[in-house]
Amino acid sequence: MTLPDPNRDTRPRLLILGGTAEARALAQALAARGDYEVSLSLAGRTRNPLGLPAPTRSGGFGGTEGLAAHLKAERIDALIDATHPFAAVISRNAAEAARIAGVPLLALVRPAWTRRPGDVWTEAADIPEAVARLGAAPRRVLVALGRNEVRALEAAPQHHYLVRSIDPVAPPLAVPHARYIEARGPFAEADERALLEEHRIDAVLSKNSGGAATYGKLEAARALGIEVIMVARPARPEVETVESVEAAVAWLQGLGLPKSAA
Ligand code: NAP
Repeated sequence: MTLPDPNRDTRPRLLILGGTAEARALAQALAARGDYEVSLSLAGRTRNPLGLPAPTRSGGFGGTEGLAAHLKAERIDALIDATHPFAAVISRNAAEAARIAGVPLLALVRPAWTRRPGDVWTEAADIPEAVARLGAAPRRVLVALGRNEVRALEAAPQHHYLVRSIDPVAPPLAVPHARYIEARGPFAEADERALLEEHRIDAVLSKNSGGAATYGKLEAARALGIEVIMVARPARPEVETVESVEAAVAWLQGLGLPKSAA
């Protein structure tokens, strides 16, 4: 008979799908509590992700089946999808994989931004529509999209683009007027205002990501009366969803998880 390993970690095992400030904050809160064995998963897109408070794996799982196999192999007791509101594929995969593996799933999604008095917003269903809504006449546009999304700008080469991303856009866009800034938020309103003024920006292209870190550009645009072309969030799978780290911790506690089976 094999005796149980006295050093084996018997805490319930959680997997957090991350790549967001919320995922990091949740991992931090759970690490401080110490009652769960937490691991994080990143897609591996950002070259130098910020330091993380839990053991982290990086790279895709190989679709729904791959994620379901990972949940089973790692004996995950609960899955938390804390990916970005625009990361639609992994969220769909998480919903299906959790069902296949029989693992409870929670989505932690930050609230969307809502229009405030003074905002000049034009809504777009997706990025190509947002680019089209810039119109035919040349404009000076601050582009706050991911570097994997900016190729859509090539459909409207008449505009002057100021493209801000965490990692460089490579190769550069096939448009005649583009400048690039590499920067990682948070961005303060005063700095955003200075940026919009310095580059004489007359439109901001933004996804409705929500959260405080990148809200400054919207406040600055409001103050300067600049139009924001706002890309709506993609559809999400129907899973139990909370908007805060505290609510996610409460959900976990409510699961009354048994010790992870060996
Ligand atoms: P996506 O389109 O939903 O996912 C594409 C593929 O990337 C998935 O099918 C999966 O590959 C892999 N993947 C995504 N997130 C993963 C994770 N946390 N761990 C392991 N694999 C993951 O995702 P995306 O929009 O490219 O975003 C990628 C990552 O960047 C996400 O972690 C997201 O939270 C973060 N992020 C995204 C945005 C955004 O605007 N989209 C903004 C900030 C941060 P397999 O199918 O092979 O498993």
